[in-house]
Amino acid sequence: MSSKPENLTLITDDGLRLDGRRADEIRPMKIEIGVLSRADGSCYLEWGRNKILVGVFGPREAHPRRSQRADSAVIRYRYNMASFSVEDRARPGPSRRSIEISKVSREAFEPVIMAEMFPKTAIDIFVEVLQADAGTRTAAINASSVALADAGIPMKGLITSCAFGKVDGQIVLDLNKEEDNYGEADFPVAMTQDGEITLVQMDGNLTPEEIKKGLELVKKGCKEILAIQQAVLRKKFETPVEEVSEEPAGEKEAVTEEEPVLAAPEAAVIVGEALEAAEELGPEMLEEVVEAEVLASEVIPDFEEEPEEDIEEGLETEEEEALEEEALEEEAEPEEDLEEDLEEDLGEELEEEELEEEEFEEETLEEEAEFEASFEAAPELKEFDEIEARLERETASEEAEEEMELEAEELSEEEPEEEEAEIEETAASEEETVEPEAEAEPEVEVEETSTEAEEAEEEPEEEKSEGPWKVVKDPSEAGTRGEKDE
Ligand code: UDP
Repeated sequence: MSSKPENLTLITDDGLRLDGRRADEIRPMKIEIGVLSRADGSCYLEWGRNKILVGVFGPREAHPRRSQRADSAVIRYRYNMASFSVEDRARPGPSRRSIEISKVSREAFEPVIMAEMFPKTAIDIFVEVLQADAGTRTAAINASSVALADAGIPMKGLITSCAFGKVDGQIVLDLNKEEDNYGEADFPVAMTQDGEITLVQMDGNLTPEEIKKGLELVKKGCKEILAIQQAVLRKKFETPVEEVSEEPAGEKEAVTEEEPVLAAPEAAVIVGEALEAAEELGPEMLEEVVEAEVLASEVIPDFEEEPEEDIEEGLETEEEEALEEEALEEEAEPEEDLEEDLEEDLGEELEEEELEEEEFEEETLEEEAEFEASFEAAPELKEFDEIEARLERETASEEAEEEMELEAEELSEEEPEEEEAEIEETAASEEETVEPEAEAEPEVEVEETSTEAEEAEEEPEEEKSEGPWKVVKDPSEAGTRGEKDE
């Protein structure tokens, strides 16, 4: 409690508070149950701007051993305010306030928790204030009550908690932060479902009439809170007995219907084999198998098509059966006949294929002929041919003219060429007179290369290198050479 600013009014003339509530109204509350998977019981509670998380563990073996009680369980309650839960950062760890709140809250539960059922054990209640906006201890008690029930801790009843206070001289229910800070009194209360008070605290000054009035408001508030707690717990635990018995049965039926479907292929094969066997045995057996097939079709949707035909066949008259037997006998021919038939069939098929190929070739030839004829008949193409022929004639005449011109040019240049030819001839005659052996020798070699090639290979290399005259074996040839030399 701190001194209120002069111009601050917490309750308007209309009797409304800063958050719009009337004096006897509590802040909106929301409860979730079983939010922590590792706790035996848990609860998350929002009450106005308060946000509280509670986890319950136990009954479990109490440690250290000296903390155990031989006749009952030990209830441990730890209230902790997160450092980020308030405007000014709260100092982490236990404080005088948190120890006090933990003690009074534990004592608020002791009358209802049936601790004597669990000697030497501990029931741990961990409270974490995530966001604080006045009334956190009462909010934590309400959340802890639900978490204890969620953990299955035997209790005589739920504990509910609410505070009343004095604001602007009026008794109001469930103070918020501004009312708690600038109000004249804060009076938190916890009580059982029967209205027995298990926690009372007071901060401020109140008259006995104000306390009486305030307690009436708190009872009203606790009833409302109890209704919310019970609704949450009912939602989780209260399941009609009939529904419990029906649901599993329905599930079982569904399972029994689905399981055979999983084995449908196998079942289909089995029933199919049974139908084949029944056909051989007669109509009486078929009737039994039909029943089995009907059962199978109920659980095997895809199995209905093929067996239906078999069933119809099985229900035909004896005459039809006799006809079928004949047909079956015809079908059951010896293997040799079957092979012959197959060969014949294959031969026929091959012949047909050959004929088809011949027909196809004839057709293609005819088509090609028609295609060419269509070109011949086309007038445009004839015109093209005439143009081509004319062009060829023109090009031929041009070439002839060019040749004529070239010949004329050659004739004009003949005289100097003749002179050059005469000069060459005189030079050649001079060479013959000066070096007659040099010309004669190669001629002889050319004549002999083809006839005496092998002999030349056998001859030693020295003889080859001695000179061309040694190659000449006929003396008459040597005489001619001599004649030339002369
Ligand atoms: N508060 C705070 N810092 C603290 C303790 C409390 O800001 O260290 C605020 C917080 O919002 C708390 C309110 O003061 O809800 C009133 O505190 P009180 O001790 O009356 O306990 P509560 O009403 O929360 O049970």
